Amino acid sequence: MSDLSPDLSPATVTVTGGRPPREPDAPLNVPISMASTYVAGGDTEYGRYGNPSWEAFEDVLGSLEGGRALAFSSGMAAVTTVLDLVGHGAKVVAPQHAYQGSIMSLADHEARGRLSAELVDIEDTAAVVAACADAALVWLETPTNPALELADIETIAAAAHEAGAYVVVDNTFATPLLQQPIALGADIVVHSATKYLSGHSDVLLGALVVDDDELYAVLKNRRSLTGSVPGTLEAWLALRGMRTLHLRVERAQANAQALLPRLREHPAVSEVRYPGFGAIVSIVLDGELAADLLVRKTSLWVHATSLGGVESTFERRRRWKTEARTIPEGLVRMSVGIEDADDLWADLSRALDQVVAHRPE
Ligand code: PLP
Repeated sequence: MSDLSPDLSPATVTVTGGRPPREPDAPLNVPISMASTYVAGGDTEYGRYGNPSWEAFEDVLGSLEGGRALAFSSGMAAVTTVLDLVGHGAKVVAPQHAYQGSIMSLADHEARGRLSAELVDIEDTAAVVAACADAALVWLETPTNPALELADIETIAAAAHEAGAYVVVDNTFATPLLQQPIALGADIVVHSATKYLSGHSDVLLGALVVDDDELYAVLKNRRSLTGSVPGTLEAWLALRGMRTLHLRVERAQANAQALLPRLREHPAVSEVRYPGFGAIVSIVLDGELAADLLVRKTSLWVHATSLGGVESTFERRRRWKTEARTIPEGLVRMSVGIEDADDLWADLSRALDQVVAHRPE
C-alpha cells in the first residue's frame, strides 16, 4: 500500500492514500477481492483477519487521524469493541448527551453488572475531570449528538491519564479534517464511517484509530475473535466516498454556516445550536407538533435518521423513545448536505413559514 509522507495535507491524503504500488498496468484503485480464504503462507490467510479493501480504507483514515485504523462492520461494532476493553466492575465516564446507541450499550453493560457508568455534562470540564478520578475509561463524543456540546479533549485527557484511564473520542461529527483527537491526547478514536467518511448514505461501516501498537494489536485481535469485520464492498465504497471527503465537508460546512443567520432570524425557530464547525445544526421549535410539521413540509430536505450524506436530511430526535429526555421535544437535528444553499433555504423557509401559520392561537 502507499507510503504517505506525514507532510501531506489532508486533501492530498484523501486522494492519494490507499493506492496499490505504481507498476505498469496496475490498477489505480485496490480491486475488490471477494475472498474468504487465501493461499497459505502469506500475511492474511483468512477473510476474518484481513482484506485489501479494508486495508486501503484503513490506510487513508489512519493517515488522516494520525494513527493506525481498523475497519469494523458498523460504528456500533467499533463502539462495543472499545467497551469490551475494560474489565468487570470498571467505571466508565460518558456524556449525558451522546449517540443513543453508545449510551444504550453502556446501559446494557451496567444492567448486566459488568460496568458502572457516570454520565456527565461534557461542557462542564471541572465536573468531568472530577469524575475521571476512579475511571477506567472516559468516553467523549464531541460535538455531541444531537445537543452539539463540545468537550475540552486536552484537559480531560490529561486528567483521565493521571487516573490510568483510556480516553476515547467519537469523532464522527467532526471528521479528522476538523478535529484530530489523538493529537489532543486521545488513545482511541471512534468513527461511524457510515456518516461523513462514506458520505453517500449507502454503507454501514465503523472504524477505530489508535497510535499505540500494543493497543492496535489488542483491538485487531478482538475484531478477529468477534468477527465484527466489514464487508469487502462496503470498505471499497467507503474509501471511494473518502476520496471527496475534504470537498464534501468544506461545502457542507459552508452551507450550514450560510443557513445559520437565516435560521436565527426565523420566527418559528426559538434556538439554533451550532458548535462553530461542521455541518450539523440543531434547531429547537416550539414543541413536538411544530417539529413534526416541519419535517413533513419540505421537498428537498429528507426526513430521515443518520447524517453526513451528500443530501440534506433532518429529524426530530425525540421521536426515538431512547433519546435523552433532556433533549427538547421540538429539537430537529439537521445534517446539511452539499446542495445549493439558497435552494436549501428556500425549501426550509417555506416549511418554517407553515409552522408559524399553524401555530395555535
Ligand atoms: N457514533 C455516532 C456519533 C453516531 O451518530 C452513530 C450512528 O448514528 C454511531 C456512532 C453508530 O454508528 P453505526 O450506525 O454506523 O453503527
